[in-house]
Amino acid sequence: MDVPSPTEPVHRQAGADRSNPTEPLPLTFASAAGPKAVTGGVTARSSGRTSASRRTRRILIALALAILASGHSGLGNLGDNLTALRSPIERTAASWRGAAQVVGDMAMAAIAEEPNLGRLTGAARTPFCDDVAAEDQRPIADAINLMRRTAEGERLFRQLVDAGICVGTDEIPYNSGYAYIVKSFGSWSRSYINIATRHVRADEPDVLAALLIHEATHVDRYLNAEACTYEESCTVLANGVDLEEEIAAHAAEAEWWIQAYGKDGKRFAFGYAFGENELVKAYLRGPEAFAAYVRKIRSDPREATQPSD
Ligand SMILES: [Zn+2]
Repeated sequence: MDVPSPTEPVHRQAGADRSNPTEPLPLTFASAAGPKAVTGGVTARSSGRTSASRRTRRILIALALAILASGHSGLGNLGDNLTALRSPIERTAASWRGAAQVVGDMAMAAIAEEPNLGRLTGAARTPFCDDVAAEDQRPIADAINLMRRTAEGERLFRQLVDAGICVGTDEIPYNSGYAYIVKSFGSWSRSYINIATRHVRADEPDVLAALLIHEATHVDRYLNAEACTYEESCTVLANGVDLEEEIAAHAAEAEWWIQAYGKDGKRFAFGYAFGENELVKAYLRGPEAFAAYVRKIRSDPREATQPSD
């Protein structure tokens, strides 16, 4: 089997952004971050404390109004409340107690929904690329530790480490990440995985772990000469996407999500996690339906204009 010539990039495989852009984040979640940020600002400045506290108060009042506006009057069942929070159009007035309870319930739901994975055995250094910002290192390290809690995740991780392939970040306008895979003088160590910074900073370690599984699967198929490009047998979509490679990488991603949350997916899934649940649903409909689904989500013409390194 031919290995592409040294120093030539053999592959750059991107992962599509599968968030649900039409679905806004719950307003209370966005607002809840407010006071923390304000407190930081006040502490950082020694002068201007009075106007800063006035500003804090104003922001807290705005926060109260935001919570009230996004609440729900009937607190009969948590499911209804979550629906209400996700659909601002339906919002009605609510009591403070009600809004606080919804936020509390959502926090409880999040706590109760830890991925159902085994414990990590054996530490290993996260293979960061050189230019990863300090603030991005913790979320990536956490996601790698989560990824490694399945046997396949651990295998993929060890393979990255053994081959000297690093994990970095990039501003990627449409896709979630990509793997740049190159063999140079017999070594794969110039290869790397880049994840979109918005994912690294989205505070969704499970989604980040699933994306790492996706990209590490691309790496795996190249390192082990399983990629369709070796035999030039790929179905290449109009935007340049190699369909068979994406089907394999998305399948690995779906399998990891199933191991973490079961076949019904994550119960309270917002933002990007919602997209992972959708992927699992399609995966469980069987190979043909899954191939059609991957073709659909990966046919966007914007994929043709992604960053080139
Ligand atoms: Zn991909």
